[in-house]
Amino acid sequence: MKWFEPRRHAYPWRGTSDPYAVLVSEVMLQQTQAARVVPAFERFLGRFPTVAALAQAPRADVVRVWEGLGYNRRAVALSEAARAIVRDHGGRVPADPEELERLPGVGPYTAAAVASFAYGATIAAVDTNVRRVVARARLGREPGEVRRDTIDDEAGRWLDRGHPAEWNQALMDLGREVCRPEPRCEACPIAADCRSRSGSRRSRMAPRRTAPFEGSMRQVRGGIVRLLRRRAASVGELAAQAGFPVERIVDAIGALVGDGLVVADAAARAGRATGRVRLAD
Ligand code: SF4
Repeated sequence: MKWFEPRRHAYPWRGTSDPYAVLVSEVMLQQTQAARVVPAFERFLGRFPTVAALAQAPRADVVRVWEGLGYNRRAVALSEAARAIVRDHGGRVPADPEELERLPGVGPYTAAAVASFAYGATIAAVDTNVRRVVARARLGREPGEVRRDTIDDEAGRWLDRGHPAEWNQALMDLGREVCRPEPRCEACPIAADCRSRSGSRRSRMAPRRTAPFEGSMRQVRGGIVRLLRRRAASVGELAAQAGFPVERIVDAIGALVGDGLVVADAAARAGRATGRVRLAD
């Protein structure tokens, strides 16, 4: 906790206990680095300052403001979550993790994070970073060597019940900055008590492999949404401007339609270059 102290206000979402702001930040942080989330978070809350404002906004506006974060499905899910909160919870973000988990785009980690950060619930928020710290420090194993529920149970036992929000955030920062896939044990504040540090297990820790992005379906989908933010377009125009074959554009459009991000006319769905596509409302 002493190590965490200077990091306590490192990000704008840590200065708030507004459950809506916490929810927005956690959805953004699901697949985007914190440094990139900061400007997007401030822009998003400037445009949609409340759950009600987000619930009322056309989905295309939400996707536009999401620009730069990628994984645009999260924008759609957040928009749907805001509508569900207004419709089913009187506009108040639920405090109960089980109710939070029923919202679109909210999994067990995000539900626990919102309940803990915004409402002070005594629940461990276990993301990939925390799972790595708990597995190594408490169980003396790599996370891939232990059942996930074993790690989650241990995280619950380890939780500082007097300061659950700070504790969860501290473990996240520790996993992100120090206990990385290739750990920096020499800079670790809990090294003296770590069960991995005391052995020679570090040599067995495999460096993380990342999925290639170049040419991936994610890149094609991201390119299409970027172009459609400016204006509606035909399949042929999208292929030419994004620099991918029409077949790949058509496949990506099918996936984006399935996610509720874009709307395609019958010709586009049939794979014709003249078919029209636009962002969903
Ligand atoms: S001592 Fe090393 S392995 Fe243990 S928690 Fe710290 S960084 Fe991770």
